Amino acid sequence: MRRLDFASLPLCWVAALLLSGTAYAQSPELGPAVKGYVKLQAPRIVLMHVRVIDGTGAATLDDQNVTIENGKISSIDKGTDVGSTGDTTAIDLRGYSVMPGIVGMHNHLFYIAGPNLTAQRRSDPPLMLPEMAFSSPRLYLAGGVTTMRTTGSVETYTDLNLKHDIDAGKLPGPHLDVTGPYLEGSTSYFIQMPHLTSPDDARQLVEYWADRGVMSLKAYMNITRAELKAAIEAAHKRGIKVTGHLCSVTYKEAAELGIDDLEHGFFVNTQLDPDKKPDTCSQSEGEETLARMDGSNAESRDLIDTLVKHHVAITTTLPVFEQDLGGGGPPLRQAVLDAMTPEARQDYFLLRQRKVGGPAPKIDPQMLWKHETDLEHAFVNAGGLLLSGPDPTGAGDVLPGFGDQRGVELLVEGGFSPVEAIKIATLNGAIYLGRDKQIGSLAGGKNADLVVVKGDPSKQISDVENVEIVFKDGVGYDSKKLLDSVRGRYGEY
Ligand SMILES: [Zn+2]
Repeated sequence: MRRLDFASLPLCWVAALLLSGTAYAQSPELGPAVKGYVKLQAPRIVLMHVRVIDGTGAATLDDQNVTIENGKISSIDKGTDVGSTGDTTAIDLRGYSVMPGIVGMHNHLFYIAGPNLTAQRRSDPPLMLPEMAFSSPRLYLAGGVTTMRTTGSVETYTDLNLKHDIDAGKLPGPHLDVTGPYLEGSTSYFIQMPHLTSPDDARQLVEYWADRGVMSLKAYMNITRAELKAAIEAAHKRGIKVTGHLCSVTYKEAAELGIDDLEHGFFVNTQLDPDKKPDTCSQSEGEETLARMDGSNAESRDLIDTLVKHHVAITTTLPVFEQDLGGGGPPLRQAVLDAMTPEARQDYFLLRQRKVGGPAPKIDPQMLWKHETDLEHAFVNAGGLLLSGPDPTGAGDVLPGFGDQRGVELLVEGGFSPVEAIKIATLNGAIYLGRDKQIGSLAGGKNADLVVVKGDPSKQISDVENVEIVFKDGVGYDSKKLLDSVRGRYGEY
């Protein structure tokens, strides 16, 4: 976001900005395209006798009353019976839990389409990234995501306008941290990405999009160190953070250049890849390095020390790797199938199959998966900020919202406790975004961005899938109605 210099503004503007700041948590007047999905809206809402998972990693509190007023949580107290009266709507939530809305840190608003995809996973070029401006925001909100970073955009103006319309109450969806176009180098897998030609080109791109309101940037696989350095410097001047899905630049190099975050856990660090040359992506794109880092050897410790020293966050994206490296895709969910177009569903089934006739992987996938989860734990134990996001591109079972839920489950499979996993998916993202005073955990005074789920995810993590109501700024949205509205649309728009 553009930094505003208060001193240079007329006083009346300052007053207006301050007022809009305090009103931020309150929902705007909702338009007709949003109203139909509202389940609960009242001056005062009391969620009675609910279990509270507060997002800080603290133990669960049973039988609480959570009161929501003016878009905020006004109190969390011991459960009592409250009657619904004029201004107050009280609902009995025995058997339910509330947790903070998910803060998705590797989320997208597009789908990956491989034209004429075959069972050998070949498709005709070019790979396309069609924008899902209709289905994605609804799927996210339905799945309990109340804030998300777009983590690289292909239609940046669409994403910026979408953010505007969601914030104005014209369209349903989560709060968006809009990321600019990918900062990609001279070659790319994707035809829709800009190809940087020089450090100055990188600087210009950052400044152009900073002027237009992007709130974050993402460096991509073939960027050079000099371009990355120029982009980071230009972004930081504007108060904008930079993350990266890197290959040509190693994690240590990027940390030393001042990057704020690295995507895909430790899967795409290339520093120990045997064929790695400066400023060039390696053949294995990081698998060779991950095979050489077990979370506790000297190379792992040195990397983690460097990342923690430079305050670099790591975003784990386990769902997008689950299909190939994590021992197969997640169980089929009917709701996931229902969301897709027939074509997207067909591709989904092709991609779920084991690769037909392909060579066996050179590096043991289960070993890579184990190294990844061990490195994540070592990073957290060393004080590193671990974020999470599914990288939802439609491929490999990963869809908006559903993928975010799966990410929390996989963190638990990887050894985090359920409340720790929920903290990684909620409060940690808010901390990274500098919004942890408003969102990411549940406490009196914070924005009422929270998810009502049936069951108890602190005991059985798959209960995060049982979303019924998603509160954003104190308005309770009907998860099922949102899902019904995108039936058969994901993959089209
Ligand atoms: Zn991604």
